[in-house]
Amino acid sequence: MKLKVMEYETIIGLEIHAQLKTNSKIFCGCSTAFGAPPNTNTCPICLGLPGVLPVLNQKVVEFAIKLGLATNSNINKFSQFARKNYFYPDLPKGYQTSQFDLPIVGQGNVEIEVDGQKKKIGITRIHMEEDAGKLTHDEVEPVSYIDLNRTGTPLLEIVSEPDLRSPAEASAYLKKLHAILRYLDICDGNMQEGSFRCDANISLRPYGQTAFGTRTELKNMNSFRHVESALEYEIRRQRDLLLEGESVVQETLLWNPDKNCTESMRGKEDAHDYRYFPCPDLVPIAISEEWIEEVRSGLPELPDQRKTRLVDQYGLPNYDAVILTADRQLADYFEETVSAGGKAKKAANLIMTELLRELKERAITECRVRPHQLAALLMMVEEKSINGKIAKTVFQSMMESGKDPMVIVKEQNLLQVSDEGELVALVRQIIYSHPQQAEDYRNGKTKIMAFFVGQLMQRTKGKANPNIANELFVRELAG
Ligand code: ADP
Ligand code: MG
Ligand code: ZN
Repeated sequence: MKLKVMEYETIIGLEIHAQLKTNSKIFCGCSTAFGAPPNTNTCPICLGLPGVLPVLNQKVVEFAIKLGLATNSNINKFSQFARKNYFYPDLPKGYQTSQFDLPIVGQGNVEIEVDGQKKKIGITRIHMEEDAGKLTHDEVEPVSYIDLNRTGTPLLEIVSEPDLRSPAEASAYLKKLHAILRYLDICDGNMQEGSFRCDANISLRPYGQTAFGTRTELKNMNSFRHVESALEYEIRRQRDLLLEGESVVQETLLWNPDKNCTESMRGKEDAHDYRYFPCPDLVPIAISEEWIEEVRSGLPELPDQRKTRLVDQYGLPNYDAVILTADRQLADYFEETVSAGGKAKKAANLIMTELLRELKERAITECRVRPHQLAALLMMVEEKSINGKIAKTVFQSMMESGKDPMVIVKEQNLLQVSDEGELVALVRQIIYSHPQQAEDYRNGKTKIMAFFVGQLMQRTKGKANPNIANELFVRELAG
C-alpha cells in the first residue's frame, strides 16, 4: 500500500533586537560600554527609582530613522512610547518602556537572495525600546546575580512579516539586516555579546491552505548557524506531530545548541497581559520632513548598492559580490586589496576560499594579513614569481606570522623556477627514466603530460613554472 505523505509549507517570521551603538543609554546619561564591573553604569533613572524622569536620547531616534530609510520603510511622523508591564527581576521598574500601537517605523521591506532567487521580505514595524538587566544564575549555590548595567541600553526591535519560507531564507534575511545595521554603523552586530539577537516564530501548514498553523517561538540563538539548525529541528518536530495527527502547542522554546534540540521555556503568555498604555513621562515624538531628508542625505552606501557596484566596477560575478558585501569590513578589505594592485577576481577567489576558511569565526579586522600584503601575494603569482599552489602555502604562513609574502618566499626558498636551463636537465632525466610513458605519449596519449609535469613538480617541490614545464616536455619528447 502506498501511503500519501502530507507535505507542509514552512512559515517563519523573525523578531530581531539590535542594540544601538550610542555612547549613552536611551533615557539617561549612563554609559552603554560592554564589560564594565556590574552595576557601575547605573543611575536613579535606569535603576527605575521612584520620582525620576526619563529624557529621550536623540541619537536613538536618528538611528531608528536611518534603519527605517535603509529598509524602505515608512517613518511615522508621530510616534509614542508605551509601557509594557510585567514583573521580572531584571526589570527594576516593573515595566519596559517600549512602543506599541504607534511605533517610529511602519511597513517596509528588504530584499534577500537565496540560490539566485530574489525575494522581498516585508517589515511589519521597527520600534524603539530599552533593554533589561542581566541575570546570572550561580551554578552551585541557589543564588542569582543581577547586573543592571544593561538596563536602559537602546534597542531597535525589527519585526518581519511571516514571509519567510525556509531556514535558508530566514538566515539570508537575518544576514541582510545584520549587514544593513553594520553598514549604517548603528549596531556592532556582535551576536555572542547579545547586541544582535533574534527570536524566530515558526509554523507549518499543508500546501494550499491559506490560514497559518499554530506557531512556536524560538529564543536564545546567538549565531546564524544556531538559527538555521534550530529552525530545521523545529520543522521536523512540528511535522512529526502533524503527521501523527497531533497538534502543535503554541509555546516559547529555547534552542539548546549542546543537545541540538529545542526545549520548552514557557507557554505563550497572552499579549494582553502586558496592559500597554502610553508612557506619561515621555512626550510623543514628532519627526519633521526636514530631519528625515537630512538623515537620508547622510546615508552611506548600503549592502545592495555596494553589491551592484562591485559587479559593475570590477566585473565580479553576482555570487562573489553577495558574499563580499555581506560584511562591510570584508568588502572594504576586498576593495583595498584591489586598489593595492591585486586583480579583482583573483582577490575575490582568495578571500572567499582560503582567507575566510582560515579566519573561521573571527572578524576580518583581526586578520593578520593586511590587504596590501594580499595584493603583493597576488602580484607575485601574476608575475610568475610563484605559482598558484605555492601561493596557498605562502598565504598560510602569512596568516600565521603576518609577514610579507616576499619575506616568506625568500626564507623558505619558494621562488618559482622559470629558468629553462635549470629545468631542462631534470626534464630529460624524467623522460629518460620513464621510457614507457614517453613511448605512450609519442603514440598519441597526450594526457600523460600531466604525469610528467607532476614528476617535475615533485622534484622541484612545486616550484617549477607549470607553463614552462609543459613547453619543455613537449619539446624534449618530440626530440
Ligand atoms: P507577538 O506579539 O506574540 O510577538 P506578533 O503577532 O507580533 O506576535 O508576531 C511576531 C512575529 O511572529 C512576527 O515576525 C510575525 O511575522 C510572526 N508570525 C506571526 N504568526 C506566525 C505564524 N503563524 N507562523 C510563523 N510566524 C508567525
Ligand atoms: Mg514575540
Ligand atoms: Zn542611568
